[in-house]
Amino acid sequence: MLQPIRSLPVADLQQWLAKHHQPNFRAAQIMDWVYEKLAVSPEEMSNLPKELRQDLARDFDFCTTVPVETKRDDDDAVKWLLKLHDGNTIESVLIRAPGRTTACISTQVGCAVRCVFCATGRQGFVRNLSPAEIIDQVVVASREHGRRVGNVVVMGMGEPLYNFDHLNLALDTLCSPAGLGLSARQVTVSTSGIPQGIRRLADQHRPWNLAVSLHAPTDELRARLIPSRHRHRLADILAACEYYRSATNRMVTLEYVLIKDINDSLEQAAKLASIAKQIQAKVNLIPCNSPDGSFAPPERGDCERFLNVLVNRRVQATIRRRKGFAIQAACGQLRQQTDSPAVKPPEP
Ligand code: SAH
Ligand code: SF4
Repeated sequence: MLQPIRSLPVADLQQWLAKHHQPNFRAAQIMDWVYEKLAVSPEEMSNLPKELRQDLARDFDFCTTVPVETKRDDDDAVKWLLKLHDGNTIESVLIRAPGRTTACISTQVGCAVRCVFCATGRQGFVRNLSPAEIIDQVVVASREHGRRVGNVVVMGMGEPLYNFDHLNLALDTLCSPAGLGLSARQVTVSTSGIPQGIRRLADQHRPWNLAVSLHAPTDELRARLIPSRHRHRLADILAACEYYRSATNRMVTLEYVLIKDINDSLEQAAKLASIAKQIQAKVNLIPCNSPDGSFAPPERGDCERFLNVLVNRRVQATIRRRKGFAIQAACGQLRQQTDSPAVKPPEP
């Protein structure tokens, strides 16, 4: 496997250049191609000598997430099926709204948490993505956009906090001026609610936005929606959210997938409102996108009545607009390509 260029420290690139009898300034040129001009092949690097381009191609991987299928939904969303070096595939999405472009990226192939309404969860866990595989999804989306995307949401496949170290390295590169140069406030990490991971993220003291997928206002209902051992107690999750808010000074967002006749009653809305007030969180309601017809979104009017209960209790709340539904790029619809079996890594 070639060394991914976007997880190579500059000092190592300088050493490699010295070994290839190249002047030191080439490192800055290469980094400029990789992060500013978003190159995915040395062939694009027109100010480098041909021989150097060939040597670079021999030793480094310039795009660890190769698009094998691209689907476009009007002007709203673009979804890619991306192939990884071991044959596994992931999906990521570019979402366009007026004045706002967002890359929605994955952190794992599959997911161990297995929320019952989520297409990724149905696959189970296959493997963690490397830092470069996380970063390169933003590069693919930015190339489509013509320049670096304005926002990154870690809301694709997988539980990001179960791949903490790689996520952290990737976010550092995405948010470093020497990397893609996003500001931490333009990045949102969404988790199913792993208290220990939330606390670790808070301890990085970076103002990333945190979104926590609550789905239910009681532990009993949550147990139906997340029947795996990866579900944590609401009280522990909320305590971790408060820790995050005090460590970063950022308001946490609670994501709540609205499912008809399961978690959409007005009584449940009132309970959710008191939770949100308790931890001073915003609420983002996501009408369920059914993976196979077994979970349905409430009628539009019912979603709005649910929202009004929150708003009337002075909770900042919104209903998420559905983007990319026609190309299965909306929340909870991302999965590994179905006709290729998952490639499990060898047992350690
Ligand atoms: N694993 C992380 C991030 C990826 S899921 C998490 O769970 O937060 C991103 C968001 O998609 C979550 O808020 C999740 O609740 C939502 N989601 C999953 N399945 C969905 C579905 N079928 N319809 C609508 N939203 C869904
Ligand atoms: Fe995993 Fe998030 Fe899907 Fe749940 S909603 S199965 S945590 S990707």
